[in-house]
Formats: sequence, C-alpha cells, structure tokens
Amino acid sequence: MKEQHADVAVVGSGLIGCSIAWHLARKGVRTLVLEANSVGSGASFAGAGMLGAQVEMHEPGPLFELGLSSRAMFRNFCEELREQTGIDPEYVPEGIVRLASSPEEAEELQNRGKWQRERGLQAEWWTPEDVQALLGIQAESCTGALYLPDDHRVEAPRLARALARGALLQGARIREGEPVLDIAEEGDGVTVTGVRDVYRADRVVVAAGAWSSLLLRRFSWSGRVFPVKGEGVVLQATLLPLRRTAFARDVYLVPKNDGRLYLGATEQPGDWSSEPSLEAVSGLMDRARRRIPDLGPYPIAEIRVGLRPVTPDGFPYLGPLPGHPRIWIAAGHARNGILMAPATGRLIAEWMTGGTPSPLLEAFTPARSAPAKREPA
Ligand SMILES: Cc1cc2nc3c(=O)[nH]c(=O)nc-3n(C[C@H](O)[C@H](O)[C@H](O)COP(=O)(O)OP(=O)(O)OC[C@H]3O[C@@H](n4cnc5c(N)ncnc54)[C@H](O)[C@@H]3O)c2cc1C
Repeated sequence: MKEQHADVAVVGSGLIGCSIAWHLARKGVRTLVLEANSVGSGASFAGAGMLGAQVEMHEPGPLFELGLSSRAMFRNFCEELREQTGIDPEYVPEGIVRLASSPEEAEELQNRGKWQRERGLQAEWWTPEDVQALLGIQAESCTGALYLPDDHRVEAPRLARALARGALLQGARIREGEPVLDIAEEGDGVTVTGVRDVYRADRVVVAAGAWSSLLLRRFSWSGRVFPVKGEGVVLQATLLPLRRTAFARDVYLVPKNDGRLYLGATEQPGDWSSEPSLEAVSGLMDRARRRIPDLGPYPIAEIRVGLRPVTPDGFPYLGPLPGHPRIWIAAGHARNGILMAPATGRLIAEWMTGGTPSPLLEAFTPARSAPAKREPA
C-alpha cells in the first residue's frame, strides 16, 4: 500500500461528489475522489432529470430556497460543462405539468400555485381540456393541472458523465474501484483507508449517497442516511409528440431529446437491492398507460435503478460533523439530488475555501437534531 495526499478527499463520484470536486478543483484545491465502483454506478445515473424546484416542493422553506437557487444556476452550469468536456447534459427549458387526479388534489395544487406565485414564481392552472390539447394526455384521467414553466430538465447520466470529466479536466483525480473502508482523524489531517491504498487529506467530504452515514459511525454522530430504492423505465417512443414533462402523483413521464421517454419512478424505502423487480416495473407501466393508452407498442430501451439517499427529516446534511471540523458530509438529497447538484457543489466549495457558510446552508447543518418525518418501512 502506498500513501497519497490531497487537500480534500471526496468519497463518492455521484453528482454530488463530482459537483463538489469540480468546484473545488476550479479553485485550485488538490482534490481526490474515491469511488467504490465506477463513475455511473449510483443513484445519479438512474435519475429522470427533472429540475423540479417547484413541482417537488409542498411548502416554502429552506429546501425550496436551495432548490430555486440551484435551478437558477442550471443553464450556465450545463453550458460551461458542455464547452469544457464536449458532453452535452441536454438541458431543455420546457416546463413540468403537475396533473391532479381528484378534486382534492386539484385544490391542493391550486393552493400550491398561489403561494408560489406570491413568491414571484410562474405557475399556471390548466383545465383537463388544456391538458389534452397541449399535452396529449387523456382529459378523463385528470381534474386539471399546475403548469410550472421554469422547472426544466436534463439527461442525468449525461450530466453525471460531464461533471466527472469536468472534474478531471480541472485537475481532480478520480479513483474508481476503491471502496473506502474507514475514515479517521489523525494529527492535523484525515486518513482515508480504501481497499487498495491509504490516503492522507486535510479534510474529507463524504458524498457516498445512501451509504454515507455507514462511513461515519465512528464519529458518534446521530445523523442517518437510508436508501429509498427507485426504478424507472425508458421507452424508445420516438413518435410520441410529448414535449413537456407530465407529472402525476403515481407516475411521471419525462421526454428525452432523442425520442426516448422516461417513466418514473417506484419508491421502496429501506431496500438496498439494485435489481429491478417485475412487480415494480409492471406497476409503473400500467400507471403510465392509464395516462397515455397507446404507449403499449413502444420498446423498452432501458430500466434504471438507484438508491435515493434519504434522511429522517427529509433535509440533506451539508457541512462538517459537529465537533469534527475536518470530516464533512454532503448527502441526503433524496428525490432532488440532480436539481441540487450545482448549488451543493458551489456552496460547499465556497465554504471549504472561504471559511464561512452561505445562509442558504444553515438549515442543513449536520449538527441539527430534527424530528423524524420519514422512516424506512
Ligand atoms: C429512479 C430515480 C429517479 C430520480 N429522479 C430525479 C429527478 O428527476 N430529479 C432529481 O433532482 N433527482 C432525482 N433523483 C434523485 C437523485 O438521483 C439523487 O438524489 C442523487 O443522484 C444523489 O446523488 P449522490 O451523489 O448523493 O449519490 P449517488 O449518485 O448514489 O452517488 C454515491 C456514490 O458513492 C459511492 N460510494 C458508496 N459508498 C462508498 C464507499 N464506501 N467508498 C467509495 N464510494 C462509495 C457509490 O458507489 C456511488 O457512486 C432520482 C433518483 C432515482 C433513484
């Protein structure tokens, strides 16, 4: 075993780890990313790519604000990555249509549209007839819809590849096939022990998705990240004229630039398995066909599976562990890690290099002890 040194070691090469590494490397920080498998093996490559800052948020608050600020960075973030790496993350500025399936849900969505408009955001109400005319979704299958023109989309695997390549081009190193087994504070730095080598760094950021808190047990920290398994089916639906994302409570349909259509997604809390199940996938397809009956003949191009990293209070942990200023965590973005990747990377890198956290990060401190809202089944 040989010892290697970095200013910052990042554990995990998903969107969150690579965004942090990209931003740090641009600031001249010697950054080393350690990945257990390969770039592309985590939740980031399973995502639908919705930038749902409005559609995913049920109430105003810090998560909503972080999502909005990250969404505002997206266009330039993708453009810069595309220019730097030649990989196009396929940022598409078409909005999301949130379908209501009952009068109660229509009322809830109309209220959501109201407080979002009061916040200065765009949110239009569509009748079932508008939905049929503008989206091609059966009018009978909905009771109206909230159209959010500024919730755009990307193609998640492309964005993740662009970020990994971008981080490399900025000077970061990425070691694949290096599961981290242990992290320890030693002297004025940190020792990170992988299967193949031991690494020394001034600080470490654990961005290991659903696995993150497993690596931090020795620090007597009470935070916890657990998996919510998700499956999505990608159809080759070239002839389907769906331009905007249609999002209902039980299924969403996200069109892709090359004519594919992403149907998402299942949710199985506490399930660590990485294989798609027939039951989950067929349920998803049945729900999609209730919205667009003629989906049947389209071939399945791909089934994506990933473990969303979720925390008990639904907020990510972003920052150093209490009492351990060299041990950082950036994990727990749950259903919105693609959306949150630009802001997370930028704000963590600014904090690590500038010394003070952005007020946007205050609510996400790993030092909080919040009441649990969600627990694995
Ligand atoms: C089906 C599905 C659909 C989704 N759709 C959307 C969407 O439309 N919009 C959106 O914003 N979000 C979406 N998400 C959520 C989003 O994908 C996640 O929040 C995000 O990808 C989390 O990124 P991450 O980098 O934290 O984790 P990951 O992408 O899981 O990366 C963690 C990495 O850490 C590595 N690792 C783990 N343990 C170790 C170790 N000990 N040593 C070294 N490496 C380790 C893993 O191999 C992995 O590569 C979706 C998720 C799923 C599953």
